[in-house]
Amino acid sequence: MTDSSVPLAEAGGRLLIDLQAISDNYAQLAARVAPAACAAVLKGDAYGTGLEPAATALWNAGARSFFVALLAEAKRLRDLLPQAEVFVLNGLFAGTEQVYDQYDLRPVLCSQDDVARWQDYCAGIGRPLPAALHVDTGMNRLGLSATEAIHLAEGRDEFRFPLALVMSHLACADEPDHPLTARQLEDFRAVAALFPGVRASLANSAGALGDKSLHFDMVRPGIALYGGRSRRDTPPLRPVVRLELRIVQVREVHEGETIGYGAAQTARRPSRIAVLAAGYADGIFRLAGASDGQPGAEVVIAGRRCPLAGRVSMDLMTVDVTDLPEEAVRPGDFATLIGEGIGVDELAGHARTIGYEVLTALGRRFHRRWV
Ligand SMILES: *Cc1c(COP(=O)(O)O)cnc(C)c1O
Repeated sequence: MTDSSVPLAEAGGRLLIDLQAISDNYAQLAARVAPAACAAVLKGDAYGTGLEPAATALWNAGARSFFVALLAEAKRLRDLLPQAEVFVLNGLFAGTEQVYDQYDLRPVLCSQDDVARWQDYCAGIGRPLPAALHVDTGMNRLGLSATEAIHLAEGRDEFRFPLALVMSHLACADEPDHPLTARQLEDFRAVAALFPGVRASLANSAGALGDKSLHFDMVRPGIALYGGRSRRDTPPLRPVVRLELRIVQVREVHEGETIGYGAAQTARRPSRIAVLAAGYADGIFRLAGASDGQPGAEVVIAGRRCPLAGRVSMDLMTVDVTDLPEEAVRPGDFATLIGEGIGVDELAGHARTIGYEVLTALGRRFHRRWV
């Protein structure tokens, strides 16, 4: 599948998204957590890989429950997958109740106010519509407190809608043996026990790849499906994204001259510099650039790793190709920034961030192909 909005001949780079790898990663996780169900998180345009293609691949691989952050994403998903169970994580925004109803979507209720408004809506239309409940166990981001959950459970007979899921979110599962994970697990066990017969879900990717005790009835992986690292102690599953950037020019730089903005890097020898047609406007972080004191990210050209030289600019970046044979680097060739052994997490490390941010930042100016 190709997004023809940017023809390859006009694009500064091409982004190849391996849908088979997404399916394989799903199958691997689903097998690992069985008999727990494996849902899929599709927020952030499926972590930059494209909501529709990723959702189709995941549905075909057997996923039936999906999580997105926002209602707009959920509506797109519903148009694509009429049978899917779709949860919206960011809470029930006032005035959107009717949209959930119309599209058969499940709000993840995150506060007492959310619960009250859903109750009122269901009472008003005289139909009990299922919703999920998010209970906070130590993340301190979204969710009712444990005390609020207890109050709610005690008055449960008054519920005018069925609970489809009770969930919480792990803050530190990427760090094996972080003490907060054990505390959250214990608290979530107590929360889940308040709602017997309701499916329970705690684990993100790191939890799904962690101990079985974290799996409950359903796991909610995101990053692991898209080939990013989720735990310090576990290598990522199959890589999904490959990014190749167009070489627009190769130039000679004399020893002692500087390269790019801020004259941040000085040529220590007569050098050849390849100029690539992508930069921070495409989501390639400026922090991944190089300076005299600090090497930056690398790209692969003609099978060899080459270091960035100088800063990443808005639409361009520069690479030292002095060590490659002259005929190996020509304008019109492509340099691989993600792929050929360079993972999203390696690139993220050079930009002092995480694979999640690299994937979701990848811009819309690339030629995109789903294979
Ligand atoms: C993003 C998110 C997930 C998925 O997290 P990963 O670390 O990408 O697996 C699961 N649950 C909630 C509530 C989330 O916000």
